[in-house]
Amino acid sequence: MMDLSFILNELGEDRDNYYNAVSPPIMQTSNFTFNTIAEMRNAMAGEFDNNLYSRGQNPTLTILRKKLAALDGAEDALLFSSGIAAISVPLLTLLTSGDHIIAIENPYSWTAKLFSDFLPKFGITTTFINGCDFNNFEKAVQSQTRLIYLESPNSYSYEIQDIKRVADLAHRKGIITMIDNSYSTPIFQLPIAMGIDLVAQSATKYIGGHSDVVAGVLTGSKAIIKKIFENEFMNLGPAISPNSAWLLLRGLRTLPLRLQRSFESTKKIIEWLNHHPAVEEVIWPFNVGFPQFELAQKQMLGCGGLFSFILKDSSFAKIELFCDRLAHISIAVSWGGYESLILPVIASITNQQYNLQNKQHQLIRMYIGLEDPDYLIKDMQQAFEQWSNYGAPEN
Ligand SMILES: *Cc1c(COP(=O)(O)O)cnc(C)c1O
Repeated sequence: MMDLSFILNELGEDRDNYYNAVSPPIMQTSNFTFNTIAEMRNAMAGEFDNNLYSRGQNPTLTILRKKLAALDGAEDALLFSSGIAAISVPLLTLLTSGDHIIAIENPYSWTAKLFSDFLPKFGITTTFINGCDFNNFEKAVQSQTRLIYLESPNSYSYEIQDIKRVADLAHRKGIITMIDNSYSTPIFQLPIAMGIDLVAQSATKYIGGHSDVVAGVLTGSKAIIKKIFENEFMNLGPAISPNSAWLLLRGLRTLPLRLQRSFESTKKIIEWLNHHPAVEEVIWPFNVGFPQFELAQKQMLGCGGLFSFILKDSSFAKIELFCDRLAHISIAVSWGGYESLILPVIASITNQQYNLQNKQHQLIRMYIGLEDPDYLIKDMQQAFEQWSNYGAPEN
């Protein structure tokens, strides 16, 4: 494999072509001209490898494409206008009516909807399984199974799958494998080296890293990537803008630094939460006591800053107060940027639906950004202090 530093700083950058500028230009163009018909004929015959029109390729995107493919150890990469497009568009190329998918049971919300609502319109069915137990994959295989879909860890409950074992099973049965690797990025997990065929990521999260761009990436063999590009990709038109590609290039320069920082800070904050009297449980693949801790250590090189914690015996109002009182940690969906965020389950249910017996209702998802971890701990500390006074009898 290429050196990480070479990929991030040099690969794909032909500075001679742009006045030796250190930062590559944003090729803000929809179209490309040709000096001769012969040149144009050549580009039209192979749009996958040539700049013809920016719904296909564009030079700013090409720099990024080369880097993202190399980071994953893949032959090629394709960029999309969102992470969900990098998941849904390839499936429309790979699958046809009558095909069957095996998917893990708690994927990203819009991925779940894709399998349960969208693909059935085209006669494609999905069996959702608990992917923590490898035997469930074997049991779910049918003669029409064409794809096994993984997300390890997933971005809410962090269940992981034995990636290498699932890939081996799929190869034996001639089934394609795809994984959503947004949580780990290639810095912390390399699914292609474990035998996975296609790796999708929401580049909106860690790759971009600054909460200023929505994008996706898919990596895999040149043959599959080219087939997707020449068919559904060009038909559905989910291309990313040159400006967004440039923001992702800028984000990539610091990807390993940001992930390492997020990892280190998360360890420190989880250590604090593990011992906090208001906290019942912290769910994070690298937390000692995580049910799949050993598998996580085996197949992941580090662990991202997204985790969840469950509060102890807390009312709807108490959880809401804790969240509202946080002064520096923001309430929001998404993650992967420089800023720390929380997303409590109570944001998606009403007080009437809240059930104290259901531990999931007391769950708060948290993402640790690039702030000083002590700054974040202090913020939570003061929110918890407010909480301990709350509900005291008035007098
Ligand atoms: C956000 C996210 C997606 C979707 O990505 P978008 O860029 O928002 O379309 C897919 N998978 C995971 C795990 C995510 O967190």
